[in-house]
Amino acid sequence: MTETKHQGLLLIISGPSGVGKTTLIERLHQKFDFAFSVSATTRARTEKETDGVDYFFLDEITFTQWISEDRFLEYAHVFEKYWYGTPRDAVQQKLNEGRIVVLDIEVQGAEQVRRHMPEAFGVFVLPPSEEALHQRLIDRKRDAPDVIERRFAQARAEIATATAEGQTTYDVHIVNDDLDRASQELDGILSERLKRTD
Ligand code: 5GP
Repeated sequence: MTETKHQGLLLIISGPSGVGKTTLIERLHQKFDFAFSVSATTRARTEKETDGVDYFFLDEITFTQWISEDRFLEYAHVFEKYWYGTPRDAVQQKLNEGRIVVLDIEVQGAEQVRRHMPEAFGVFVLPPSEEALHQRLIDRKRDAPDVIERRFAQARAEIATATAEGQTTYDVHIVNDDLDRASQELDGILSERLKRTD
């Protein structure tokens, strides 16, 4: 793929399930005007989610067709079960308009994006401890026990990859020990990044 320079900023935000990423992104949106990339997924829609707003909920055949039509900027198989992918066109269009575009994606996808677009900026959100994350996954009562354990195993693997020495996917790590503090840190990081001209 040829590398193209865009005026906007592609901001990747990753972090394990239950770390509080969604709330941090909502807080960030109160301070900054950005476009949020709506991903496609083959996982089932939850009651609180709306198709086309939270995700494009696709069946596997359609997802595979989008892959073959090269419609994804990146895609990954997550939890050994579901596909998730970032539709390319919407992201590129908004970057061309000079906007900040936020991707909430996991590590494999973030690696692909950074390979193609090194000018993107990567933030990884960490829990205060692995035990705290495990407890949050239990407390939010969203998943069945086996799903919680799968998400936790995935989380540990993601944290190891994202914090490995020499990794080039993430520019910064933020510990979500306290929502207000972490949110302020993220605001500060984005403000600094926007001052840079490269
Ligand atoms: P959830 O099912 O909890 O909404 O998301 C599960 C994981 O998939 C999260 O870590 C989230 O960041 C990741 N994810 C969501 N959309 C995408 C995407 O388009 N691409 C990739 N690679 N990961 C995604």
